[in-house]
Order: sequence, then C-alpha cells, then structure tokens
Amino acid sequence: MIELDELKIQAEACTICRLADTRTNVVFGVGAPTSELMFVGEAPGRDEDLRGEPFVGRAGQLLNQLLDEVGIPRETVYIANVLKCRPPNNRNPQPDEIDSCKGYLRTQIRLIRPRVVVTLGNFATKLLLRTETGITRLRGQAYPWWLDSTLIPTFHPAFALRNGERTTQEMRQDFVLMRQALDRARQPEVAAEPAAENQAEQARLWS
Ligand code: URA
Repeated sequence: MIELDELKIQAEACTICRLADTRTNVVFGVGAPTSELMFVGEAPGRDEDLRGEPFVGRAGQLLNQLLDEVGIPRETVYIANVLKCRPPNNRNPQPDEIDSCKGYLRTQIRLIRPRVVVTLGNFATKLLLRTETGITRLRGQAYPWWLDSTLIPTFHPAFALRNGERTTQEMRQDFVLMRQALDRARQPEVAAEPAAENQAEQARLWS
C-alpha cells in the first residue's frame, strides 16, 4: 500500500487539472499521519497557496481557536482540503476539479484512518456525505461514516468570519460534538452483552 509521503510526492507533481497552471504550491495536507481526528476544508486560499500549508490564514486562526477551546492542540490533528491547489481568486471549486482531486483525499483518509472526520463547509460535506443537502441542515449531528469513523459536518470558518458570532457559536457546539465523538472512540470497546441463549450456554459451560 502507498504511504502518505509517497502520495504527497505524487500530488506535488500533479497536472491532472487546470489548477496546476496557476498554483504556487500544492497544499497536500498537514498533521499527524495517524491522527484520530481529521479536518477537511474546501481549497487553499492565497496564504495557503504561498505557504503550502492548509488553514494558515484568518480562517485557520479561527480553526485553531475553536480547537483550543475544546482542548485539542492543532499539531495532534490532520488537516486537508477537497482541492489541493488554489482556485484563481478563491473562486468555488468546479465539479471536474473535485473529480480530479478526490482520489488524493480518499487515499489520505484510508491511510490516516481517523476515528472522527470534521467537514468544514458545503464542498467537503457534500462530497463526503454524497448529498446535495446544505450544511445548515446537516450540521449539529454526528453521522456514522466510512471505515467505522464518525463524520461531523460544520460551517467553514471563513463563513463564520463573514457571518458573525451566531455562526461561530454553532461551530462551537459542533466542536463539542466532535470532542464527545473522539472521547467515545477512545474508550475501550465494551463487550456486547451475550444474547439470552448464549448466556444460558455460557452458564452451562461453567457449572
Ligand atoms: N479555506 C479552506 O477551505 N482551506 C484552507 O486551507 C484555507 C482556507
């Protein structure tokens, strides 16, 4: 199986879509390669394109603050985007760009195997939950997801910065849900109560 470092090298040489012509850096993703918690944003902005790292601008500062409030250091999580290259002038990702890029994200998730995935905004949420329903209706809940993980959709921090405190407050609620899902995932598996006939069988074996 391919390793995360090799996948990064492949992505850095990627020319599948038009965004290769205008990017400064490929923004593959950053963080602990076996993190239990993974964030998926939309696409790099200007700061991210220049630095080659996701969420380093103002939206990233809000993300760091919200993480801090639930006691999770940024260095312990993994952060990636749906698109690895910046769309010119921060326009929305185009469907063919998402199609070209989604294999990288899929492999990242398969290799990292997070227990909890948080999607930031509509693009990541619609792609990973395979839905056309908008984020406002989907957020506030945890969804059982691929590879036994839990997916928690929330607003994009850039949207919260534009929309004001109420949206940030809703993101805070989602971050509490995320923390709870993570704590649950960390608990040792409780063995399921054996079914009644099984219990009788076990009792027979003992006596
Ligand atoms: N917005 C995103 O969706 N991703 C980033 O990395 C930065 C801003």
